[in-house]
Amino acid sequence: MRVASYYSNSDIRLEEKPRPTIGEGELLVRIEASGICGTDCLEWYRINRVPLVLGHEIAGVVAEVGRGARLYKVGDRVSVSHHVPCGKCRFCKSGHESVCDTLRKTNFDPGGFSEFVRVPKINIEKGGVYKLPKNVSFEEATFIEPLACVVRGQRLANFSAEGGSADLCGGRKDKSVLVIGSGISGLLHIQLAKLGGAKIIVATDISEPRLKAARKLGADYAIDARGYTPKRFKEFNSGYLADFVIICAGARQAFEQGLRSVERGGTVLVFAAAGKNMTMPVPINDIFWRNEVTITSSYAGSPDDHRQALEKIASHKINVYDMITHRFGLGGTGRGFRLVAKAKESIKVIIEPQK
Ligand SMILES: [Zn+2]
Ligand SMILES: [Zn+2]
Repeated sequence: MRVASYYSNSDIRLEEKPRPTIGEGELLVRIEASGICGTDCLEWYRINRVPLVLGHEIAGVVAEVGRGARLYKVGDRVSVSHHVPCGKCRFCKSGHESVCDTLRKTNFDPGGFSEFVRVPKINIEKGGVYKLPKNVSFEEATFIEPLACVVRGQRLANFSAEGGSADLCGGRKDKSVLVIGSGISGLLHIQLAKLGGAKIIVATDISEPRLKAARKLGADYAIDARGYTPKRFKEFNSGYLADFVIICAGARQAFEQGLRSVERGGTVLVFAAAGKNMTMPVPINDIFWRNEVTITSSYAGSPDDHRQALEKIASHKINVYDMITHRFGLGGTGRGFRLVAKAKESIKVIIEPQK
């Protein structure tokens, strides 16, 4: 079968690999669509392990069923999690499934930028295979994983969508939100925050097409990050800073702006990876002391987050279709990576390995 092997962001090669053979309890999935994630292009994080077949936002059709994998049959349309939590360790039990050792070790074989993947038994047993309803296309289904991460982020930051559980702002459903970086994750955060009843959403980016998408998908104001200041946020928000700041860009400036933009009692969600070895001094007195500010983070998504994401996509509460800007066959994976790494005119780039 053909795979797209990653050597660096500018060196992706179409190669031949044997099609994986499956064992007991496993599945072989023919990949129909595979999204390129911003983290796929995190070169410093990948470069010491190359060549890699990346791709973890997948959707496809079950092509073979191993003995004992009774819940699935050939022809089922599915999305699959590459990482699954054990459900039993101290982290899983405390609701931090995505820091579980098992989650960090599990993966499918070889990766989504390939014609087929083998889904190990553990991914199936731990609930990492999701059957797609008829009204969800393969390309829409590639958003299940990124949206699951966003669902998790907002929940861990106590900004629960649709009036969910604990609301740290005293039960108000009128929080103001700042989304820094309007790539895929930023745009999904905007939509989910809107769904969760945000009073006002301000988004930033340095790319005009992305700002346009932010406006279209629910931001009340979308402005160039280079001209953004916390003072501008106050102007939009009757004199207050943001109750909820979501950092979806990895530049130092994004973190600085985020910390400077949080209102007393508010929360900053660190959602983006930063440059290698990046550190940042935090002005304790200005930002923390007397302000009851929470800085939190979230990583990946649990099977439950994925199911919630799928439900939101299937019910069209979240519009993912309009975020797709480019589609390529497997041979176009390199072009796709260059577009995503540049983070300018593309939003979602989908690879269709059967083409
Ligand atoms: Zn991803
Ligand atoms: Zn665990």
